[in-house]
Amino acid sequence: MPYRAPVSDFQFLMDHVVGFDQIAATDHFADATPDMTQAILSEGARMCEEILAPLNRAGDLHPARLENGVVRTPPGFAEGYNAIATGGWIGMSASKAVGGLGLPMTLTTTINEMIASACLAIQLSPLLTQGQIEALEHHASGTIKELYIPKLISGEWNGTMNLTEPQAGSDVGALRTKAKPNGDGTYAITGQKIYISWADNDFTENVCHLVLARLPDGVPGTKGISLFMVPKLIPDDDGNPGKKNDLRVVSLEHKMGLHGSPTAVMEYAGATGWLVGEEHGGIAAMFTMMNNARLGVATQGVGVAEGALQHALTYAMDRKQGKAPGTGTIIEHADVRRMLASMKADTYAARAITLMNAVAIDMALATGAAGWQARAAFLTPISKAFGTDVGCEVAATGIQVHGGMGFIEETGAAQYARDVRVSTIYEGTNGIQAMDLVARKLMDGGEAAFRLLEEIEQGAEAARATHPDLAEAVWQSAESLRETTEWLVAQDDLNNRFAGAVPYLRAFARVLGGHAHLASAVNGNASRARLATFYIKRMLPEHVGLLAHAREGADDLMAISADDLAA
Ligand SMILES: Cc1cc2nc3c(=O)[nH]c(=O)nc-3n(C[C@H](O)[C@H](O)[C@H](O)COP(=O)(O)OP(=O)(O)OC[C@H]3O[C@@H](n4cnc5c(N)ncnc54)[C@H](O)[C@@H]3O)c2cc1C
Repeated sequence: MPYRAPVSDFQFLMDHVVGFDQIAATDHFADATPDMTQAILSEGARMCEEILAPLNRAGDLHPARLENGVVRTPPGFAEGYNAIATGGWIGMSASKAVGGLGLPMTLTTTINEMIASACLAIQLSPLLTQGQIEALEHHASGTIKELYIPKLISGEWNGTMNLTEPQAGSDVGALRTKAKPNGDGTYAITGQKIYISWADNDFTENVCHLVLARLPDGVPGTKGISLFMVPKLIPDDDGNPGKKNDLRVVSLEHKMGLHGSPTAVMEYAGATGWLVGEEHGGIAAMFTMMNNARLGVATQGVGVAEGALQHALTYAMDRKQGKAPGTGTIIEHADVRRMLASMKADTYAARAITLMNAVAIDMALATGAAGWQARAAFLTPISKAFGTDVGCEVAATGIQVHGGMGFIEETGAAQYARDVRVSTIYEGTNGIQAMDLVARKLMDGGEAAFRLLEEIEQGAEAARATHPDLAEAVWQSAESLRETTEWLVAQDDLNNRFAGAVPYLRAFARVLGGHAHLASAVNGNASRARLATFYIKRMLPEHVGLLAHAREGADDLMAISADDLAA
């Protein structure tokens, strides 16, 4: 089924909901003119619709495989990757100082979402490379920057991130990979990493692994971890890929989805690595990559939701069943209409949140203002968790819209659900994101949260004149969220926060979604107002139950024993 990029939604959200004009008004992003923005959206859409979307099915049917130690990618993936690389999409937000285009992350977010809709398995590779470029830009020495970043921006080389080990998943501090100084400024890296995405391929000249490892004097836990650049092929004196490094892909995982993306077990056997950032400062350096990747993974959820929605809509407008009035197709049934409307309204809300997040990142960079930095940090776990939850939920509803055909692989509806499922797990599970939100991101006493809520209430006040019912509902939801945020901030026992972290994060996203839909109703046409009404009247009320859950604390939850659960 052809994919049609939602260019008008991006443009509308940027113009009327998330305040892209603030970014374009800064000196830093003076290049982001309306003409440039429009050209980027339409050129990105063309690539995704014409080149990448036709590859999605092939990636599912012909998984990446390991042949004599070399990873072979699905048919067409090399061409697809090449289109992304030569189109200049990888380095579009890398700074000009290192050879990037220096364009806003907001624009990169729209492109990453479109690529994810078209072919999620390919998208993961440039996404990781983008994160690596940012980590190197901020933490690497001048020599490493000069050597690696231009090749990563051009896509000739791709980047990976190596955190996970069998005993060190969410608890990265438990990692055992070792780094030993070689005495010549390089380090010998030894250990095993698992689940490494795009650890090898048959289309880039080199693969650049950013690997977390512990130096001999590294203390246990996260404070003793350092970060290393460990290339597959060691660059020679001219910077060309030279001698093979002592690392290998041991095996590829058999996954429930995302088959086109190779997920590898990696062995480092004294491989040569170069330190990135300070000794024992690896977690801080890797966090730069992970924060970038968290917003990128959010776009994976939203992108797949969009693809699944378009797929289901096409089916619903064709399938005839039951006594349906009008067209006689299942879209005329109220329950099918409900499913499609919820898919569309949630995809739109999640897209708006990722773009709000990206705007905050851009404004933080352009102005250096602490308030924007705090907002970007606050919104990142919400974007990641809500964007990917919506991806999974919309894809599952898409299967339901198809009826039995949703369960049959040929329709492609199931692929969306299988492919996107991992997005709630990697880059920090959504549970870990929610814990980050209620602990670290409320460490400011809730200041970043309260500022956002003030803006939501101001938006609702302004909308009262034209949309009184919708405005009141959004205003009330922000008030309830404020009360629960105050309750959470007052909990010194973090377990009381953690017990309700996931429902709190979702409630926050629900309210942000209400804010975005209300702004769309106020500034948009009748169609946008109808979707906003659906969301605010039928989906926003979910926040009431979620907030009640969030305020229950940990006692009765933890009182349910393991034996109770097994009884
Ligand atoms: C397809 C795929 C691709 C991946 N790509 C990469 C990659 O490129 N690079 C890389 O380094 N890793 C990658 N990963 C690994 C991924 O990031 C981890 O799987 C993830 O961090 C979770 O770790 P885990 O699997 O060990 O689960 P665990 O950490 O064992 O978690 C199991 C459950 O316990 C919960 N949990 C764990 N600790 C806590 C806690 N303290 N409090 C509350 N709940 C907790 C989790 O939320 C989860 O629900 C990939 C994984 C997959 C499946």
